[in-house]
Amino acid sequence: CGIVGYIGWKEAAPLVIEGLKRLEYRGYDSFGVATENGDINIIKKSGKISESGADLSALVGTIGIGHTRWATHGVPNDCNAHPHTDCTGAIAVVHNGIIENYAVLKRKLIEKGHRFKSETDTEVIAHLVEEYFSGDLLAAVTAAVRHLEGSYAILVIAKDDQRIVAARKSSPLVLGIGDGEVLCASDVTPLLEHTQRAVYLEDGDVAALTASRIDVYHDGVRVERSITHIDWSV
Ligand code: GLU
Repeated sequence: CGIVGYIGWKEAAPLVIEGLKRLEYRGYDSFGVATENGDINIIKKSGKISESGADLSALVGTIGIGHTRWATHGVPNDCNAHPHTDCTGAIAVVHNGIIENYAVLKRKLIEKGHRFKSETDTEVIAHLVEEYFSGDLLAAVTAAVRHLEGSYAILVIAKDDQRIVAARKSSPLVLGIGDGEVLCASDVTPLLEHTQRAVYLEDGDVAALTASRIDVYHDGVRVERSITHIDWSV
């Protein structure tokens, strides 16, 4: 339902949670955040962020992704909340949308030895990225999304990788370019207090984000996406 990501020099989790709260108007049944600091740390829960009483102090790191979920596949509970991980817990994914062919993908991945924890369509993305991962998260996500049918806006992080990899198809995703920091979200609302420079990803784009730059690819080719000036009056 709602997605927020942050990569920069500040602690990511408080910023991501603040951003998720700005997407609350869309409604959600659960939420979760993952950060990277040499490990992938995850907290995810059913219910509202403000009422969860969750101790978020374990979420250390300047790279973070978060999600508010509106369940489509799998009941709203702690396990089905995003982020979802691969078998090793080294890759974390948040996802808006619906993976129409998840059942077929899940069956094939189980045959290859992957073990699933949730009932969501989203979890197949984490395992597909794991399947293609050989040291380069961008390459793995690029290969994984080729198999997805349906709609997605995703953010992916991996242990010991100082990037967020973002991708979208038929579900919105916008980047906010700050000063030594990059934000991303499913709509512009969470970005506004941080920056006025936005880049709207297009259908089929895959982007690698670091604190200081964004690289957008389409069909494996690097492309330029223009910066839009956003402000409160629009
Ligand atoms: N289809 C995914 C799920 O049910 C994502 C739903 C959403 O966009 O919040 O977990």
